[in-house]
Amino acid sequence: LMWPRATPPRAWNGTGSTPHFSEIVLGRCFTYTQLLRPELGHADCGQIGKAFTNAFLSKDPCHSSEQDYQLLLKLTSQTIPCHSSVFWSKSTQLAHLYTRVRQDMFTLEDTLIGYIADGLNWCGDAGSYEMNYQSCPHWRKDCINNPVSVFWDTVSKRFAENACGEVQVVLNGSVSNTFDKNSTFGRVEIHNLHPGKVSVLKAWVMHDIGGVYSYHTCSSPIIDDLKFILSKRNISFTCEDDYRPIKFLQCVKSPEDSSCRK
Ligand code: NAD
Repeated sequence: LMWPRATPPRAWNGTGSTPHFSEIVLGRCFTYTQLLRPELGHADCGQIGKAFTNAFLSKDPCHSSEQDYQLLLKLTSQTIPCHSSVFWSKSTQLAHLYTRVRQDMFTLEDTLIGYIADGLNWCGDAGSYEMNYQSCPHWRKDCINNPVSVFWDTVSKRFAENACGEVQVVLNGSVSNTFDKNSTFGRVEIHNLHPGKVSVLKAWVMHDIGGVYSYHTCSSPIIDDLKFILSKRNISFTCEDDYRPIKFLQCVKSPEDSSCRK
């Protein structure tokens, strides 16, 4: 039996749970399944919301595990058509602009589970039935096996495992770590693509318009690291700098830039 405690839960170094977490989860689930993708209209948002909070409530927020999220994963299973998966790293805005226009393409955040959780924070405490709205473990400063990090690793892994055909990744050529072995894309997603199911990974290396410096292009050694990992895994790889369909999206904001005029 757990008793209400007089002392608040211990303070972590990360932001606390998002206010109204459960209501947001429920609202996003209904928005997605009833309005955005009615083909998932059969999903049980009440059950999904419960499975989500049960994954971490009353548990030590530094010992979260993939197992904790299994029921949630089962309740949110979704088939993404082949040739339509889009991965990203250091390019969240641009990648999501791209799939907003290309409604036939899906980032993880365009699937039900990613849509529900994107941008939220959550954790509980072993000694309480409540969410901790004060603070949550920071993945670097406190512990890596916190509920949010484990969640994204788990759902990113499934998203990659389920990908098929030609898949894409939007990379940011205007940062030093265009390909980062320690990012979710470099650490989880590329290692969980199924060779034989995925024919090719097409990378688009995008550069900020008006950015003072391009750190990397497709010819940079850092891209060879990615190419090498995929060749070892028997997955073909292509790379293109400033892929036109995505470049057009950047040009909407900067139509007068010389690179948008030619
Ligand atoms: P990234 O480095 O741009 O990171 C994306 C976001 O996740 C950033 O806000 C970053 O601070 C955070 N993040 C990264 N690793 C984390 C960790 N271990 N714990 C807590 N937060 C962490 O890009 P990335 O890491 O390659 O992740 C993007 C890819 O992985 C996408 O393909 C997507 O499918 C998936 N993903 C999405 C999210 C999300 O918040 N929507 C988070 C992680 C991973």
